Amino acid sequence: MKGIGVSPGISIGKAYVLRQRKEVASGVVLTDESAVLQEIGRYGEAVKLSVKEVQELFEKVVKEERDILEVQLELLQDPQLETDVRTRISSDKMTARDAVLMVIGLAVQVFEQMEDEYLKARAADVRDAGNRIVRNLSDGTGRNLSGSAGSLISNSGEGLIIIAEDLSPSETIGMDRSKVVGFATQSGGKTSHVAIVARLRGLPAVVGCGGELDGIVDGDRVVLDGNQGLVLVNPDASIVDEYRKKREIFIQEVRRLETLKDQPAVTTDGVKIELLANIATAEDMEQALAFGAEGVGLFRTELLFMERDSFPTEDEQVEYYKTILLQAGNRIVTIRTLDIGGDKPLPYLELPEEDNPFLGYRAIRICLDRKDIFLTQLKAILRASVFGKCRIMLPMISGVREVQQARAILEEAKEELFRSGIAFDTSIKMGIMIEVPSAAVIADLLAKEVDFFSIGTNDLCQYVLAADRMNKQIKDLYDPYHPAVLRLIRFVIEQGHLQGIPVGMCGELAGDPQATSLLLGMGLTEFSMNAPAIPTIKDILIQSSEAAARKNFQL
Ligand code: PEP
Ligand code: MG
Repeated sequence: MKGIGVSPGISIGKAYVLRQRKEVASGVVLTDESAVLQEIGRYGEAVKLSVKEVQELFEKVVKEERDILEVQLELLQDPQLETDVRTRISSDKMTARDAVLMVIGLAVQVFEQMEDEYLKARAADVRDAGNRIVRNLSDGTGRNLSGSAGSLISNSGEGLIIIAEDLSPSETIGMDRSKVVGFATQSGGKTSHVAIVARLRGLPAVVGCGGELDGIVDGDRVVLDGNQGLVLVNPDASIVDEYRKKREIFIQEVRRLETLKDQPAVTTDGVKIELLANIATAEDMEQALAFGAEGVGLFRTELLFMERDSFPTEDEQVEYYKTILLQAGNRIVTIRTLDIGGDKPLPYLELPEEDNPFLGYRAIRICLDRKDIFLTQLKAILRASVFGKCRIMLPMISGVREVQQARAILEEAKEELFRSGIAFDTSIKMGIMIEVPSAAVIADLLAKEVDFFSIGTNDLCQYVLAADRMNKQIKDLYDPYHPAVLRLIRFVIEQGHLQGIPVGMCGELAGDPQATSLLLGMGLTEFSMNAPAIPTIKDILIQSSEAAARKNFQL
């Protein structure tokens, strides 16, 4: 059966099926005040126990997994959750268990309805925290690797492949590393926790397999192919053999790619290509360095703004940017200014209801309108600039005037710092993303106004083809290889180079191995991508000739 391969690799093992417990509210109504007080007390105890459980798990895991657990701890101790649950108990006379189910259920719904894939996946965190409290209010039994898991392993000598509808963050983290060799789930996407943890542990995972997984029972032999997103159940011995060989080849390939880490990406005819990473957090930066990134081509700052309930102050922003710059050492870090609106709401910034949010009030448009927000961010970037090598990048630019307005505000930010005697990089570069078709078409004019271009193919593609990048129904229309998109990319690279400014690409196309030769042939010299893609792209580049790629390139 087919799903989405979210963590590469191949595993062969025994199925261990974790069934979802359906938690249903009892509907019991509390009749007197003493019962209310008792339920409030039980709730408090269950939260305490839940916090203790997560803290115990904390000691046993690596840093990135701890970050996920930290979110759990925050949610468990969230004062709003406590207030809402207590209100349900005291005013609506619900039992503690029913109250938690109700409050968590509503919160999960809110997250699930969000368009942004990352935020949507956070519904699992909330559900996880809620289930833990509910379990501690009930009989205390959870889904775990029980005794039968041990016997499955000792009988076969093979590791376990966990089969589940979905896995909560703490369930995934709590899995015994010595026993589990892979994960297959019915739901989930690229940013679900099972995907994140599997990638961290180097285990294959296939998610979004749908109801077909229901047919698997404990002990079935399963071949999991995280590269192709395949789950094979009780395949013939010959197929198992074939996958054993594939697994061996994959492992060898991973080792070979690892040896390229410190090698520069130079084509066979001597053209040096910059391979950069797209990041959002300090953890991403660590990963970028581990995969041999030569810098950061896109630092998405919006995450810092999205994971809070008020705007970060200038000082808080300085700290955030400084941390990344110090990690990067003398590598370039391209800090993108706030790219919110559209699919990325801020809980504390009231945005008007819009018929077409993707064509609406977002990114640089908000920043130019709300100068206070923009000026604070620019000052923070400037202050942080003394701790490393950074440049500023503006998202969603559609014309020359926006660049000029943004530059004027940048000058104002510099002026303010200068007057206050605060140090900053006075020659900091300012570039723009080319992700709106109008900007691509006037790349010749824009190139005179800025220090660099970075092509954002994710948005460029959706706007050029009038095909929403999130809409699965039209996913075939969303085609970055459409000649209209490719022509614009070629034009932007050409015009940038004619004006003598560097041109990079930070949309997903830059990390797509099928596009590497094409982009090399168009003259692209800066590729920025999710860090794990870097070794594969480097491998292609060092075996390619730029001259040959240019010759092959016809449009
Ligand atoms: C893009 O649009 O290509 C891009 C890199 O930006 P984001 O995916 O953050 O919109
Ligand atoms: Mg974009």
